[in-house]
Amino acid sequence: MKDILTKYKTSIDGLSSQEVIKRQEIYGLNELEEKKPTPVYMLFLSQFVDILIALLLIAAIAAYAIGDVIDACVIILAVLLNTILGFIQEYRSQKAVETLKSMMVKRAIVKRENHVEEIDSKLLTVGDIVILEEGNKSPADLTLIEAKNLSCDESYLTGESESVLKEANDDVYMDSSVLSGHAIGVVKKIGMDTEIGKIADIVQEESDETPLKEKVGKLGKILSAIAIVVCIAIFILELMQGTELVETFMTAVSLAVAAIPEGLPAVLTLTLALGMQEMAKSNAIVKKLLSVETLGSCTVICSDKTGTLTENKMTVVDSFYTNKDKTLLIGNLCNNAVINDGEVIGDQTDGAILKFCKDSKINYERVDEIPFDSNRKMMTTIHRLDNQKDIVLTKGAPELIIDKCKYIDNDGTIEIIDDKTKEMLSKKIGEMSGKALRVIGFAYKDYDENPPEEDLIFTGLLGLIDPPRDSAKKAVEDCIKAGIKVVMITGDHEKTACAIAKHLGILTDGRIITGAELNDLSDDEYLAIAPDIQVYARVKPVQKMRIVEALKQLDNIVAMTGDGINDAPALKKASIGVAMGNGTDVAKESADMILQDNNFSTIVKAIEEGRKIYDNIKRFVKFQVSTNVGAILTIVGTSLLSLPIPFNPVQLLWLNIVMDGPPAQTLGMEGAEKNLMERPPETGDILTKSTLLKIFLSGLVMALGTICVYSYKLSTGIPTKKAMTVAFTLFVIYQLFNAYNGKSNSDASSKYLYMGIILSFILQVLIIYLPQLQLIFRTTSIDLAEWILIMIVASTIIIAEKIMNRVIQ
Ligand code: ADP
Ligand code: MG
Repeated sequence: MKDILTKYKTSIDGLSSQEVIKRQEIYGLNELEEKKPTPVYMLFLSQFVDILIALLLIAAIAAYAIGDVIDACVIILAVLLNTILGFIQEYRSQKAVETLKSMMVKRAIVKRENHVEEIDSKLLTVGDIVILEEGNKSPADLTLIEAKNLSCDESYLTGESESVLKEANDDVYMDSSVLSGHAIGVVKKIGMDTEIGKIADIVQEESDETPLKEKVGKLGKILSAIAIVVCIAIFILELMQGTELVETFMTAVSLAVAAIPEGLPAVLTLTLALGMQEMAKSNAIVKKLLSVETLGSCTVICSDKTGTLTENKMTVVDSFYTNKDKTLLIGNLCNNAVINDGEVIGDQTDGAILKFCKDSKINYERVDEIPFDSNRKMMTTIHRLDNQKDIVLTKGAPELIIDKCKYIDNDGTIEIIDDKTKEMLSKKIGEMSGKALRVIGFAYKDYDENPPEEDLIFTGLLGLIDPPRDSAKKAVEDCIKAGIKVVMITGDHEKTACAIAKHLGILTDGRIITGAELNDLSDDEYLAIAPDIQVYARVKPVQKMRIVEALKQLDNIVAMTGDGINDAPALKKASIGVAMGNGTDVAKESADMILQDNNFSTIVKAIEEGRKIYDNIKRFVKFQVSTNVGAILTIVGTSLLSLPIPFNPVQLLWLNIVMDGPPAQTLGMEGAEKNLMERPPETGDILTKSTLLKIFLSGLVMALGTICVYSYKLSTGIPTKKAMTVAFTLFVIYQLFNAYNGKSNSDASSKYLYMGIILSFILQVLIIYLPQLQLIFRTTSIDLAEWILIMIVASTIIIAEKIMNRVIQ
């Protein structure tokens, strides 16, 4: 150990703060270089790499070639507007995701100036003394100076899935996870000098394709295919009718632009990314866009008790001793917490016990430890007494401790523990647990050849209070109203769990089951009662997996919380794995969402935000796609009726801006529906058959109205230009009304949506009446009677929406 410490010019007390600063200057920060985000100019240029944009540019050149300078300019302008819009959306999404990444700091426990503290692992430097605990990821390459049963997972480096046992003098590499045991190491290498830093591009970006994006993408492709067929057909038809080549080409291209929902994926990503940002503000860090989507449709939350539903601020408030001194001694020594200025570092249960037992401080050297784990539910340490005799100290779940006890220490007299005593103790445990206390049992023995946790001598019980969170009760209520089931899962005693679950309103008319009972159930038996179970007590972490699987099999979207390394598989399996902000690195990595404040109510807030986003996505998808459908149907219809195409290319481009522009964008910003958390969860499928049907019918209504008015106007013998202006304006007003249909029934005002609609309306009026714009858009003034006709016909889309909402479920 000395050699290693000298090698890195450090001591067992850690580096001094001056030394840390000095070394940070030499070695830099402990960071792995990540793939650089796309530079801003590339993001901008990439907007032009698009087949539609390319076609538009060709159209502009063609227009210019035949001397149609105005059209050429307008097309270029439209291209610019489109690209700027796309650029802003992608830029904002990227920024939102970057900010979130920076919020996920990795922490490291170091000892500096003989003081244990938790720091941002970026600030580690060579020679730092690092403490590794179960569930940690090694923050740098370390050489161990001390190790207790340390087993590590190095599969990401070696490909070997087996865990590796490490001893003093061994190296532990950056990002290896500690599966069990603990150790102290000296930082050997940091940042890009570490083994993992040497492996190029190990940090692979996961693709951010969400099922929704894929679905919308697919719908977009279908629409595009239809649009392209229509465009080609129109192109050929018009050419046959003798329309000029360039003019026809421009019409076909603009029609494609108007009919293809090319802006949809970008708005979708942006809405999800902004949603992530919003959730982060309320302490829920969502790691993937996908989870924003899933959250909205969550049907069951399986929550840990300790720390999530309770405050995790424990205090010993009750005790029962058969030997007080011995109990306090065990509490003091069989303990891994550190108290720093009254603050507990490490396990809270240990911390509370340490605070309570502190006065009995006698320092026996610790020679061995069997760390606490949630499966065994006990912890044992072995200490060397002065006379070289070793002593075994154990604490843990009381009924399990009593199972392991053969004797009882009655103030120094050791007696065999008989059934009557056991019964008395069991009653005592029941009393304490019934008061919602977390009870810990204490025992010891002289070290012998037998396994350490056998034939122990019982000394006493401590009861710890861990108050339920105030916010949790309200959040549970909210969940029930929102049709979301809340299930409590805890390693704690049945009675403790029961008392707290009742207090929080989680345990109502359902049942409570223990881990042992669960174990005895066959899969079918369990599935049959799973919907009724509200509390799982004395559960082992491995059983969480079975719980998630069963609930998923019953068609639930399951959110599951966890913090320990044993929880990782269940977090991965859950629809939404939720890790605690103070949980292990391994749990955080397996999770989809991290609760910075460990608070149950934060999950519910995230679900609420998820539902709101879900609604808003539905709004603009419906709006945009129905408008696309309307445009295609209008063109096809007029074409079949052998009428001239009602919109010219410049008008089509304007239509496209209205579709992707203000009204659509503001639909994504609508407030939450009033009944957002008072309706049952939705299935998670936004593009259901009935939604698709509604979209199609809305498109059909807009197309029929436009075609009817257009052909009627043509039949009255007015100039085609005027009939086209009426049809064009009608179609725009249809869209504005269609956007209004998407308005949310919210307490928040829809001011952005209204502003978007009004702005588009004013622009449309200018396009019709301003001579310069008339020239560009080839429009002409229309009179009041025509406006009235337009308004009446356009309002059919509002009526249609109302009817559809009643008829189509
Ligand atoms: P949970 O986190 O769900 O409350 P745990 O798995 O942490 O459950 O704890 C289960 C049981 O193990 C507790 O009820 C308690 O009796 C015992 N226990 C908890 N922490 C410790 C500890 N640090 N040392 C000994 N026993 C403990
Ligand atoms: Mg715990």
